[in-house]
Amino acid sequence: MSKKIYLDYAATTPLDKRVLKAMMSYLKEKFGNAMSFHLFGKETEKAVEKARAQIADLLDADPEEIFFTSGATESNNWALRGLTKKGDHIITSAIEHHSLKETAEALQKEGREVTFLKPEENGVLALSKIQSAVRKNTKLISIMFANNEVGTIQPIQKTGEWLKKENKNKKNKIYLHTDAAQALGYLNCSVKKLGVDLMSISAHKIYGPKGIGGLYIKRGAPIKNLLFGGEQEQGKRPGTHNVAGIVGFGEATRILIKERTKNAKKIKKLRDSLIKKVLKEIPHSSLNGSIKRRLPNNANFSFKNVEGEGIVLGLSLKGIAVSTGSACTSGSLEPSHVLLAMGKGPLEAHGSLRISLGKYTTKKEIDVFIKELKKTIERLRKISPEL
Ligand SMILES: *Cc1c(COP(=O)(O)O)cnc(C)c1O
Repeated sequence: MSKKIYLDYAATTPLDKRVLKAMMSYLKEKFGNAMSFHLFGKETEKAVEKARAQIADLLDADPEEIFFTSGATESNNWALRGLTKKGDHIITSAIEHHSLKETAEALQKEGREVTFLKPEENGVLALSKIQSAVRKNTKLISIMFANNEVGTIQPIQKTGEWLKKENKNKKNKIYLHTDAAQALGYLNCSVKKLGVDLMSISAHKIYGPKGIGGLYIKRGAPIKNLLFGGEQEQGKRPGTHNVAGIVGFGEATRILIKERTKNAKKIKKLRDSLIKKVLKEIPHSSLNGSIKRRLPNNANFSFKNVEGEGIVLGLSLKGIAVSTGSACTSGSLEPSHVLLAMGKGPLEAHGSLRISLGKYTTKKEIDVFIKELKKTIERLRKISPEL
């Protein structure tokens, strides 16, 4: 097998070498508990606070508004559960990441009202739909910034601007949360510009380590704890700090601030040529989701009469990693809830393939991928009963 090719950056990204380097001493000699009063603790506390400031810088927030969590999954759970109570109404979309979707479903069973809004056919949610879903008891609107399967970018800033006006004549403020795990690597995530009260982020989608993430909580947002038992993170998120992870998250953020625009441009060029070639060279192929309102690293196709899983397995045998949709459902053989919500039939939803590029992707890799994809699909179609 020739060199392995990774085209699944939306599932997770490799650790940047500079990030690993920044983390190393915190995995070795600098092992102190960041809450300890002695010199070992002071050293790691300083590192944690430096990372917090770096992340605050990226989000255009104050360091006191950044809370470290185990990742965007926990942040999504915390935002939804922590900000609402029984009887409250939550507006969300039908294309959210599983960590948000299933939290919303669990809360619905526990007595919150939840509206799951369907996007337009192109995978983008209409602001007017959000606006007309508001009820008297609406407490929280939670819409992802960019989708993890089709890469579509949602109108968060417009929602934020509208809410700001809406909340002026309201006794009970409506809060806005966004899951920015996919968007962070590519889009401006200034919480001020977007007008959000809460934002979920994760390190391993931006070349940082796994198991560390954060929740931006705007000062004053009335959020209850998910976890209890310690004074860490202003008493709001107890548990001994994952110091090395936090340091890695900070360094990944520092690099992102410097290199995001340049990388996004390079990746978009490769992605655009990939889309063009696939649609031209593979018969009965179609692109899912808007081409314009889309992350620069995402491509998602449906291929008539071929199952996505078959393609993923076939390409994997050739050393190429792509995915059907989200990493969280692979193996379950469930059709994509995102494509279903976009109005695709179960067959199309089953036949989808997500290719997500990253900063280490090369033109050569894209060329090899297209060649192997063509072969794999031809082979699978030969054994398909439909053709
Ligand atoms: C990856 C991802 C998550 C989960 O993040 P973890 O840090 O792995 O828990 C949540 N939402 C979106 C949109 C994601 O892409």
